Amino acid sequence: MEIFTNYPLKSLNTFGINVDGKYFAQVASLEEIREGLAFAQQKKVPVMLLGGGSNILFTKDYNGLILKIGDRNMEQIAETSEHVLVKVGAGMNWDDFVAICVEKGWGGLENLSLIPGNVGASPIQNIGAYGVEIKDHFESLEYYHFEQNLIQSFFAKDCSFGYRDSIFKRKLKGKGVILSVTYKLDKKPVFNTSYGTIKEALEKMSVGELSLQAMRQAVINIRRSKLPDPNEIGNAGSFFKNPEVPKSFHDHLKNQFPNLVAFKLDNGNYKLAAGWLIDQCEWKGYREGDAGIHAKQALVLVNYAHASGQDILALSEKVMKSVKAKFGVEMEREVNVV
Ligand SMILES: Cc1cc2nc3c(=O)[nH]c(=O)nc-3n(C[C@H](O)[C@H](O)[C@H](O)COP(=O)(O)OP(=O)(O)OC[C@H]3O[C@@H](n4cnc5c(N)ncnc54)[C@H](O)[C@@H]3O)c2cc1C
Repeated sequence: MEIFTNYPLKSLNTFGINVDGKYFAQVASLEEIREGLAFAQQKKVPVMLLGGGSNILFTKDYNGLILKIGDRNMEQIAETSEHVLVKVGAGMNWDDFVAICVEKGWGGLENLSLIPGNVGASPIQNIGAYGVEIKDHFESLEYYHFEQNLIQSFFAKDCSFGYRDSIFKRKLKGKGVILSVTYKLDKKPVFNTSYGTIKEALEKMSVGELSLQAMRQAVINIRRSKLPDPNEIGNAGSFFKNPEVPKSFHDHLKNQFPNLVAFKLDNGNYKLAAGWLIDQCEWKGYREGDAGIHAKQALVLVNYAHASGQDILALSEKVMKSVKAKFGVEMEREVNVV
């Protein structure tokens, strides 16, 4: 395994932030991960894991060892009349995996088409889109705990999955590495068209009979029309989470702002549309140097070319302050700031 020094990370994060990692290695097996950990211990530097770099904002050079996870193995490990269990290496590109599932006729993940990043990070924030979250089809994962030097299996009940959240973003942040994830997929797909935009996209495509391919294509069409492509403009998708507030606070806001966009949750609370809140503070299309708020999607912060991570972070602070001042709502970043 080769360990590089002062390694450029610009092409390895979708924001396109120009920083270096003091040390960098690509690791494809547990042996290589252990080798990397021993190296970092010897150099007395921290370790950071990197997947597709699509949920990270680097604000400075990383003064430690970056391990980019490369295992792309995929294996069908069980089958019943209803389901297949598929175990996938953490380094497999997420959308490549979804495409294979669709091709094989395995249902469940098609609404999550075109989400950037790798399989290993998919449980970390319980990725979700168009009415589906990975927790709905998650079976288990293999986790290597650094300090305990032990591989553990985690089932859904162990992961504390929530909205863009899990135990791996909280108690276990930085404590270990997700080596592989096993998904439970439907042999008889159940299509989730609950999101209005999906129905519209399917109508536009004049689809006669629903299929996994049609669902995937509808999602791809919507995403391409709404979200900036990181290959063209640096970004990490939604920068903020949609804030959850109690009903009483929602009602109070709704009184003041009758157009408030919010969704009722099963627990009685409301999820406020962060994009709407930001838009009301008139940030859409704002640009400060090369850092900006996307013109079509207020939730997406962008790097037009040479913005630093500090520029993007400073802009996100301003956005959060203005939302707090206008609505009294505290927003939380979805992106991992490093
Ligand atoms: C254009 C765009 C659209 C997006 N749309 C969505 C969306 O619709 N829904 C959604 O949920 N997200 C979305 N995202 C966010 C992002 O794609 C997901 O969060 C994705 O899962 C991140 O994967 P990654 O491999 O790039 O993780 P990275 O950004 O590389 O890492 C994210 C975090 O996970 C850690 N990590 C990575 N791999 C491992 C591992 N194997 N073990 C332990 N820790 C690890 C990293 O250290 C870091 O803290 C979008 C991003 C972009 C750029």
